[in-house]
Amino acid sequence: ARLRTRSTRTGMGFDVHRLADGEELWLGGIRIPHAQGLLGHSDADVALHALTDAILGAIAAGDIGQHFPPSDLQWRGAPSSRFLEHAASLVQAAGGRIEHVDLTIICEAPKIGPYREVIRARIAELLQLAPD
Ligand code: MG
Repeated sequence: ARLRTRSTRTGMGFDVHRLADGEELWLGGIRIPHAQGLLGHSDADVALHALTDAILGAIAAGDIGQHFPPSDLQWRGAPSSRFLEHAASLVQAAGGRIEHVDLTIICEAPKIGPYREVIRARIAELLQLAPD
C-alpha cells in the first residue's frame, strides 16, 4: 500500500543476540575483530536487525522474522545488510523516504567507540543517506 503523502512515521526496533565463541562478530554492517561473535541466524547482526525492524514497523510491513524466517535455510549466514536494504526498498516502493535513523547498541564488549564512525558510514551507505 502506498503511504499517505505528508505523513511522517516513526518505527522502533529492538533485538538481542548472545555473544558466543567461534563466531564472527558482525555489528552495524561491519566485521569487528573480537574474541566472540553474535549467535543467530544470518550473520546475527543485531544492530542491522533492530534497524530493519524499525523501518518495517514504520510502514506497517510486519517484522524481520516474517520477511526472513530463521527457519528458512537460505538466510543462514546471510549478510543482514540484505535485510536492511530490503526494508528500505519497501519504503521506497510505498512512496516513502527514510530521512534519519538512530541506533543504540548495548554491550559491555567490544568497545563500540572505535567503530562508531565506520558503522555510521556503512549504515548510511546501505540506506543511501548522508552520514549526518
Ligand atoms: Mg536478530
